[in-house]
Amino acid sequence: MIEQTEVVVIGAGIAGLTAAYQLGKADDFDVIVLEKEDRVGGRTVRGEHDGFVYARGTEYLGEPEGLLKQLIRKLDLQLREIPSPCDAHWHGGQFYYGEDGIAAMYIEQSSLSDYNRFVQTIQKQADAYVEANEFKPNGKLADLDRMTAREFFQQNGFGDIYQQNFNVAARGLFGASIDEISALSFIPEIAFDYYDTEPISETRAARLNRDRPRRGSEETGTFSFTGGIAEVTLALQNELGHAVRLQSTVTSVQRDGKEFITTYRDARGNLRKVRSLMVVLAVPAPIAAQIAENELTAEQRNLMNRIEYAGYVTISFYTREIVWDGAFDLAVEDGHFFTDVYDATWIQRQYDSSVRNRNDSIFTVYIAPRSYKDRSVLNMSDQALLESSMADLKKVFGANIETKITGQTVLRFPYAYPVMTPGAYARLRQLNDLNARNDGLFLAGDYMIYPTFEAAVDSGGLAAELAQEYYDETYED
Ligand SMILES: Cc1cc2nc3c(=O)[nH]c(=O)nc-3n(C[C@H](O)[C@H](O)[C@H](O)COP(=O)(O)OP(=O)(O)OC[C@H]3O[C@@H](n4cnc5c(N)ncnc54)[C@H](O)[C@@H]3O)c2cc1C
Repeated sequence: MIEQTEVVVIGAGIAGLTAAYQLGKADDFDVIVLEKEDRVGGRTVRGEHDGFVYARGTEYLGEPEGLLKQLIRKLDLQLREIPSPCDAHWHGGQFYYGEDGIAAMYIEQSSLSDYNRFVQTIQKQADAYVEANEFKPNGKLADLDRMTAREFFQQNGFGDIYQQNFNVAARGLFGASIDEISALSFIPEIAFDYYDTEPISETRAARLNRDRPRRGSEETGTFSFTGGIAEVTLALQNELGHAVRLQSTVTSVQRDGKEFITTYRDARGNLRKVRSLMVVLAVPAPIAAQIAENELTAEQRNLMNRIEYAGYVTISFYTREIVWDGAFDLAVEDGHFFTDVYDATWIQRQYDSSVRNRNDSIFTVYIAPRSYKDRSVLNMSDQALLESSMADLKKVFGANIETKITGQTVLRFPYAYPVMTPGAYARLRQLNDLNARNDGLFLAGDYMIYPTFEAAVDSGGLAAELAQEYYDETYED
């Protein structure tokens, strides 16, 4: 027997859950969500350990706008600003904390005028973000889309310290180096940190606070929830109730007249089929291209097969005493095995009094490849990952760190980030134009817009709008 519904959503990451929520709740369609894993959220993963709730994948957001803002309100979630200092750097054997500390590091390693020029250049380019988000990189923006981030640094005369540090940032944020991502895709991320930064005068440069700043003394414009970003995905799952079917791996989508037959393997290993009027495919591009091989156009498949993914690993270490609480995120200088160390309890400690004064803690290291083409970190054994991480942890935090660790958990992300290689925005535009012309089968996911949580929300919302329009045109007269 073939089950019948109006919409099948494939993948319960944030893109699929958003599409399902919009179609099921706001537009009142009958929806079934099929998810391969035994949990929702995809790359938004939450760990729980002894009263701590912590992020293992998606960590933070900029200030939500648009659909995500509306969802947070509707789901009655409490957005929390991440206390400052949000960022710190470990460079040349020294810690540089917060905005002042990091500025001091750049000024020491380059010059005050170079630093001010860097901030101004990035701010001037920040408008690129807004326009590029509409997938319309014209003129100068099209040049930035074609150029690598390294070429942008070189053309503007930003030397080694900028290239090295932003290479680590690019690897941490996208799993790819500055030689691999387009300047246009990286500038918004850099601008995020420098949007409100004022030029630094000689007098102020001499007085920059190099000590560890008081926690929470500045606004950071960076947000999460006490229980991590997974609060959003879990709340959406809750709203969708039985519509979400876990451990349901979709193997194919086939057209049958105007309708679709989706085949999936359920938790017991049985093959099942659902007939629907529409399908939203919200899985990483290569999986989507394979599942709907016969139903996507050759042009769509061609574009999707050109999207490459970086592999990535995170390890969360449980510790008997606090090892790192200097900032939410510590970026580690180039040449190390991991790019970042997050205090995984930073947000909960601020907003949940039951854990505030605990001595034990959790920190998470983010292990990105040197190049997205290198997928070797995914194939390393847990033991090898731990040994390489420990060697670096000893360099940063001292040899006795090992004695403070009580356990750890390793997580691999084979589809961590769709890489925004040069030309990415031009491809996005084509993919989105084709999606708008589809007959009942719509693509969603961060690869359709930008590799962040909020962009994935927007892509789910866009797919839901397209589905609604298609339904109105096809069935409502
Ligand atoms: C380590 C890491 C840290 C990150 N940190 C941040 C951050 O701090 N801030 C930020 O904004 N973004 C961050 N991101 C990016 C962000 O996580 C993603 O952009 C976003 O979660 C993508 O959502 P999605 O729904 O498009 O895809 P996914 O979350 O990948 O969801 C796809 C879903 O499809 C399911 N699926 C796959 N195949 C099938 C199948 N055959 N049948 C059924 N289901 C299937 C998967 O199991 C998954 O649940 C991070 C990513 C990683 C990897």
